[in-house]
Amino acid sequence: MTEETKKSGSNVAPLRAPRPCPECGRPSHREHYPFCSDRCRNVDLNRWLSGSYAIPVADDESKADDDDR
Ligand SMILES: [Zn+2]
Repeated sequence: MTEETKKSGSNVAPLRAPRPCPECGRPSHREHYPFCSDRCRNVDLNRWLSGSYAIPVADDESKADDDDR
């Protein structure tokens, strides 16, 4: 029974499934993976640098102040 799990492990496909570019949705280019082009990669990088990807801080703490008990 454990032998069967070993066999299935060797059945992994070597090729990666092509992923669409996260910026424009076109098929990603191998050179610029996971993006389709250098431009899209820069766009993504700039977004990171400008902080658009920052996780918004939850306002729950300020709301707790409103609680008048
Ligand atoms: Zn793109």
